[in-house]
Amino acid sequence: MEKKGILIVLSGFSGAGKGTVVKRLLQKYDEYALSISMTTRAPRPGEKDGVEYFFTTREKFEEIIVRNGLIEYALYCGNYYGTPREYVEEKLSAGKNVILEIEIQGALKIKEKFPESLLIFVTPPSVMELKRRLEGRGTEEPEVIARRLARAAEESEGINAYDYIVVNDDLEVCVDEVHRLVDEARRAPVRSQEFIGKIREELKGFAKGADS
Ligand code: 5GP
Repeated sequence: MEKKGILIVLSGFSGAGKGTVVKRLLQKYDEYALSISMTTRAPRPGEKDGVEYFFTTREKFEEIIVRNGLIEYALYCGNYYGTPREYVEEKLSAGKNVILEIEIQGALKIKEKFPESLLIFVTPPSVMELKRRLEGRGTEEPEVIARRLARAAEESEGINAYDYIVVNDDLEVCVDEVHRLVDEARRAPVRSQEFIGKIREELKGFAKGADS
């Protein structure tokens, strides 16, 4: 079937455990590649440049926007976050399913630009669990947690724009469910245009042969 990979957007409330889901997905299956975003937010303790994010200044980020170096970007809680174009295009062409772990404004921009992308929303089983996970992270100030919960309330209004919603309760179950959805998505005609075009061309060839 199609050689080109699928562009997957994985969103979810801050604290939904998206990062863990993605890490496990990459460990378990080798057909995925994770896009590393660029951000102007400060690194959290233990975060390294080029691993979790490419950390940069506002000025440099804005230069890259002007150069059209990002396929999408958004302002989230006062900081810029964006997806570098080159890596995504390269990996998709190489047949990898590329994962963008991004928030909802970016997700909507991706769907607009790439209608064949697959949008998955990851959520914890309950809001109490979300709060517990945010507090348990221990790296955020209470006001940051409050801001993230307020943002989650806003984001919950946008869930309907996604193709699927997956509950992250048991990690392995969640990871396998995401993988199954991606596998199913490959079979949708919108994601098999190259293959369909080839079949049509070949059939036209046969039809012409039958005419003469
Ligand atoms: P955090 O600061 O917790 O690492 O990320 C905050 C939010 O920004 C998360 O919802 C994360 O998914 C989102 N995010 C990370 N990278 C990008 C990106 O490249 N583009 C957009 N639009 N959102 C991003």
